[in-house]
Amino acid sequence: MDNYNIIDVKSQSILEKLAERIKYKERILPYLEEVYTSDTSMTIADRIEQKVENLKNCAKEIMLHDETGQITGAKFCKHRLCPVCNYRRSTMLWHKVKEVIKDLDTDFLLITLTVRNCEGCRLKETIDHILQSFHRITSRRKWRKCFHGFIRGLEITYNYEKNTFHPHIHILVSTSPEYFKEEYLDIQTLREWWVQSAKLDYYVQVDIRKVKDKDNAIAEVVKYAVKIADILEQEQDEQRLQATKTLSQAIANRRLMSTGGNIKKLAKIKKINLEDDVLDEVYEKRKNSKYFVYKDGKYVEENF
Ligand SMILES: [Zn+2]
Repeated sequence: MDNYNIIDVKSQSILEKLAERIKYKERILPYLEEVYTSDTSMTIADRIEQKVENLKNCAKEIMLHDETGQITGAKFCKHRLCPVCNYRRSTMLWHKVKEVIKDLDTDFLLITLTVRNCEGCRLKETIDHILQSFHRITSRRKWRKCFHGFIRGLEITYNYEKNTFHPHIHILVSTSPEYFKEEYLDIQTLREWWVQSAKLDYYVQVDIRKVKDKDNAIAEVVKYAVKIADILEQEQDEQRLQATKTLSQAIANRRLMSTGGNIKKLAKIKKINLEDDVLDEVYEKRKNSKYFVYKDGKYVEENF
């Protein structure tokens, strides 16, 4: 998925975008359904049938505000791999992050930290390891001297040929006022810090670059944790299903994004919730809203 899908809100209406994502979801639906129904850790209390039903009906009814065009009511399934919900989450977070950092008068850098690809059975522990290592690197005195705040996103790509997973993190950091005058973190030093923090015994790819386009950089950290296209590209059903299960379990109940330092503080001051995956639409007849139902590939307006 490209970043423009998140940023570009003008070329298509929200309904066209959601309809596109629903079509996408329908292609992966059988696999997501199977993930729920075959999950032995789920109990009757988890109401599997209801969850499957929510998945199928995700965003099929929408209410939009007459003037602002914003969603005033909808039912989202909130499955971590649902293309509709992920699109919704990313766009919402993108706008929120933009609002939080807009008055922050510092430079920003985009940092990427990775580890070696791993097999599906080790994905969970590898993600744990990356996130713990990230905590260690940001606790370093020198890191704190360079950077005063961060937003961290998690992304996992899937290599079909090798059947391995590549978890990595993208971090948008706000620099200290002295950063470009005194402190300057070159890529070799960053790699050294990361190798120490993650206790790695191999060479690893890292990246650090100055942010020129802030909108695009924000999209990089709020984008989907998993590219569904990576899974859908595969031909073999069995491998698709296995990859879907592995990814679904690895990111369930996990904080996909976190913030720290002055960015976290600003979000708190502005009362903007960046920590949770909030899909807070409720479903009831709203004032000044139109009601749309998804049918045969597009939304049509109906009476509520
Ligand atoms: Zn959904």
